Amino acid sequence: MFDVLIAGGGPAGLAAATALAQRNVSVAVVDPAAGLAAPRAELLAQGAEPVAHRLGLEHALARAVKIDAVESHWGAAGLQSHGAHPGLGLHGWGISRKHLSIAMVQRVSDLGVRIIEARITNAQKTARGWFVKTGTGSDTATLHARYVIDATGRPAHIARRQSATVLHGPDLVAVLWRTPRPKSNVMQAEAVAEGWWYSVPHQAGGTVAFVTSSGTAKQVSGSSSAFLAQARDTLNLIDVRHATGPTRLMDCRSAVLDQASGPGWHATGDAAAAFDPISSQGLFNALSGGFFAGHAAADALAGDEDAPKVFEALASRTAERTHSTTHLQYAALPFDTAFWRHRARGGLDRLANTAVPA
Ligand SMILES: Cc1cc2nc3c(=O)[nH]c(=O)nc-3n(C[C@H](O)[C@H](O)[C@H](O)COP(=O)(O)OP(=O)(O)OC[C@H]3O[C@@H](n4cnc5c(N)ncnc54)[C@H](O)[C@@H]3O)c2cc1C
Repeated sequence: MFDVLIAGGGPAGLAAATALAQRNVSVAVVDPAAGLAAPRAELLAQGAEPVAHRLGLEHALARAVKIDAVESHWGAAGLQSHGAHPGLGLHGWGISRKHLSIAMVQRVSDLGVRIIEARITNAQKTARGWFVKTGTGSDTATLHARYVIDATGRPAHIARRQSATVLHGPDLVAVLWRTPRPKSNVMQAEAVAEGWWYSVPHQAGGTVAFVTSSGTAKQVSGSSSAFLAQARDTLNLIDVRHATGPTRLMDCRSAVLDQASGPGWHATGDAAAAFDPISSQGLFNALSGGFFAGHAAADALAGDEDAPKVFEALASRTAERTHSTTHLQYAALPFDTAFWRHRARGGLDRLANTAVPA
């Protein structure tokens, strides 16, 4: 029996595992793909240094590209260049998700965390603790734990089985390509009529993405080369000349759980609140939220029953603030089109909690 079972081994789950192992709590991370993150670059927002230090990830930051400026071409507002905030010195880091994932798995393994490569298919809370089932058919196993942290990302696999509901913002999908390392350490963003583009540099290959509605994203992925050829001629700032596939489509709507903790569990990272990539806060939130989620579970097991509620309240205030700032970027209406008008209205619509298979 484990003290804590962490469902999901992304940045949030592995940060929680690090915090728990540092407090000598027995912990297992269950993920079918822990350490196998896609090789895409993301911006880790400035301010992440102290938490990276707590997590023993200084070497991962040292390998990342320091982003010293952000350039944006935002419709009528034209080209703007933003230096770093005074006193902070940089905007953040262009970090490879693959490198980060490998570094975090190595760190938790060194701390004695058990990593179980499996998908959770069911989880039951009983008076004797949690019984968590992995796999299907003849390949199933049951794990027993006193406490569960849901770090499964957007699926919020555990929370939704505990009757929590995911509230979603307007439909938003990113289409991703890889690029060679750009010549400068600048992140770029550009608005177009049907969405917006961004590029994040990284020495192992940067990422360029088009963020748009799901309908447009499907059309784009069906004719990627023709779409890139057209974009090459019309974009003002983002250089897609050397972008290569395969393209990937990723749901990137804002989302938040209406209830992110309950007896014997709480959620963290994207499972609790997922942010539109325009905010560049998801990764920072996963690392810092995951770290404190681990401490909240350790406190709860030590008898402090309020700890998960306190954690949930802080996380939900952070989510509220981030969602409202995100909304303002769309409300600037760089283009007066359906895409921008729809997202400028904001709001997280309540969706029925029906998508969880039995
Ligand atoms: C296109 C795109 C671009 C982004 N760009 C940025 C950016 O530049 N900067 C930034 O800060 N953020 C960015 N984000 C957000 C950032 O990627 C997320 O916030 C971050 O990955 C959240 O980490 P997490 O650990 O909560 O979830 P995830 O990284 O999604 O990890 C969840 C893990 O749970 C596992 N899992 C799922 N279901 C199960 C199950 N049933 N059983 C076991 N394991 C399971 C998955 O395999 C996965 O490993 C972006 C997101 C998208 C989609």
